[in-house]
Amino acid sequence: MLAHSEAFSLQGSLALVTGGGTGIGRAITDALVKAGARVAVAGRRREPLEETAAVYPSKVFAYTYDVTQEQEAGNFLKRIQSELGTPTILVNNAGIHLKKKAEEVTAEEFRKVLDTHIVGAHALTAASIPLMRQAGGGSILYIASMASLFGIPYVVAYAAAKSAMLGVIRTLAVEYGRENIRVNAIAPGWIETEMSRKAMEGDPERKRKVLGRTPLGRFGSPEDIGWAAVYLCSPAARFITGTCLAVDGGISIGF
Ligand code: NDP
Repeated sequence: MLAHSEAFSLQGSLALVTGGGTGIGRAITDALVKAGARVAVAGRRREPLEETAAVYPSKVFAYTYDVTQEQEAGNFLKRIQSELGTPTILVNNAGIHLKKKAEEVTAEEFRKVLDTHIVGAHALTAASIPLMRQAGGGSILYIASMASLFGIPYVVAYAAAKSAMLGVIRTLAVEYGRENIRVNAIAPGWIETEMSRKAMEGDPERKRKVLGRTPLGRFGSPEDIGWAAVYLCSPAARFITGTCLAVDGGISIGF
């Protein structure tokens, strides 16, 4: 049996976290580092990435990368591999929100959301798998949403993207399980970040509804997602693949 300290340790691992400089991605980075991993954080804006890297010298490394430039994914992974080593943890966390009535969502807007959450994430996943195979296995996490599970008004493209993630993780889990590559998702409930603040802005009714049906009676903190990510990537979760873990204060079973 593993010792407790080994079961939850990511000592010696290298992770790639997209959107790792802000909000949930930043908290995932913090938690992975505390569990012993080194982390490459990727995003479009340099500043939040560098701020995060500065907190953890020689543990966190900033990479400017736009996940929608999917043709660059292979080169990006090669660059990380040559500079830091092989990432055996990939957290597809980068995301954008779009809140408007479904009939007003243009095809271009719809595609941008899918390109970010699904196509861009897939390009990194596809480029990571051969490296993980060579390393003897790995763990891939997608950050899904309550929009993967519920009908939430005004988020049609976002819901399409987050629901697609559930099909993606199940498919990858069966394709790569024999190679010790585990693929899971976390579905965060309502977590206090810049993105959720914007989504709630001017919508007190939604805020009331969220809190009213959350058994734990509060919004989540990014850290709540960070520790769930550590668990799913750690040896303690070595028999878990193809699942979506709701980290939501119970809202998905609340009435
Ligand atoms: P943030 O807006 O803080 O984080 C989004 C991150 O994604 C930013 O760091 C952003 O960096 C990065 N990003 C966006 N587009 C791209 C791109 N094209 N390429 C690379 N990076 C990109 O919000 P959250 O922390 O709340 O969101 C993180 C994830 O969690 C998202 O997938 C979101 O859908 C999901 N989520 C959030 C919930 C919440 O309540 N907050 C609930 C459920 C899910 P930059 O702009 O510099 O590129």
